[in-house]
Amino acid sequence: MFEMRYNPISQEWVVVAAKRSKRPVLPRDTCPFCPGIGKVPKDYDVFVYQNDFPSMSLSIADGAFAWADGVPDGTSASSGRKNRSAAGLYLSKPSLGACEVILYSPNHTANIYDLEDWHIEKLVRCWQARTEALGSIEGIRYVFIFENRGEAVGVTIHHPHGQIYAFPFVPRLIQREIASCRAYMEEHSSCLICDMLESELRLGVRVVSENEHFVCVIPYFARFPYEAHIVSRRHFGSIVELGDAEVLAFGSMLQDLVRGYDRLFGFAAAYIMAIHQAPTDGGDYSAYHFHVEFYPAHADSKTRKHLSGTEIGIDVFVNPSDIEANAGRLKLAIQSL
Ligand SMILES: [Zn+2]
Ligand SMILES: [Zn+2]
Ligand SMILES: [Zn+2]
Repeated sequence: MFEMRYNPISQEWVVVAAKRSKRPVLPRDTCPFCPGIGKVPKDYDVFVYQNDFPSMSLSIADGAFAWADGVPDGTSASSGRKNRSAAGLYLSKPSLGACEVILYSPNHTANIYDLEDWHIEKLVRCWQARTEALGSIEGIRYVFIFENRGEAVGVTIHHPHGQIYAFPFVPRLIQREIASCRAYMEEHSSCLICDMLESELRLGVRVVSENEHFVCVIPYFARFPYEAHIVSRRHFGSIVELGDAEVLAFGSMLQDLVRGYDRLFGFAAAYIMAIHQAPTDGGDYSAYHFHVEFYPAHADSKTRKHLSGTEIGIDVFVNPSDIEANAGRLKLAIQSL
């Protein structure tokens, strides 16, 4: 049973996916994402694999199921009242959504930066197409493109791949970012992220890489030692709005950063990549600005960054590093390619 449960105290949804533990055990050393295995075609460049064991499903045919009506998404304190479950305090819903795996390459040992230009372009266009397709499904409000890489972040299949989740609600963090961008826009008549980018470019100390359309910085407020954000120079909200030249520039920037991490740490860096884009519910998100956030698991080649008491306990991050010095190191690693 897939279910979404709402926490009325922190005002956020939790996806409960008990079934996930029943994944089939494949013979050792069999990669389920290699060409010709299971439903993976023998021949592909980029392949969209519908997850057999998803946390969420689009196949819920329940007439009474209406996420759009009165389900709290944190924007209004009272909006959930009419949908309260019998328990009175608790709200739960069968989970509407989708989980897809995107295979980046048929080559089991390829890194994202090994892909040729046409291939990385194909991957970015696939992300665009899936965002459009999933985002246009009724009830889907947010499409999240992300990647977990490396055992340090729990990845057991090393074939190059990322994931896409489609949600019936706008995640809390994205809501917060949108609210900040809107408030700033109201006050300054300009975009918070555009203005931050401009000031980072003027200052230069935290910029780790630049190309014609994208800039990569370690943010001033980085929570992780080598957290890096890729920001588009042009103001727009969603990956589907990338123009032709931006598609390749975006792919190359991802490649540069991951290659830089691998160089810096001396091994295939473990990280979480999160693409932050505008919701797909038809709202006005013109104040929001597309960007990608990377969270590497390591502080250096020997030290892991673990989540600690303040981080899990009260959501206060402690970054044990010199942010500007780290930016210098990462920039050097990217440049020395
Ligand atoms: Zn494989
Ligand atoms: Zn902007
Ligand atoms: Zn963000």
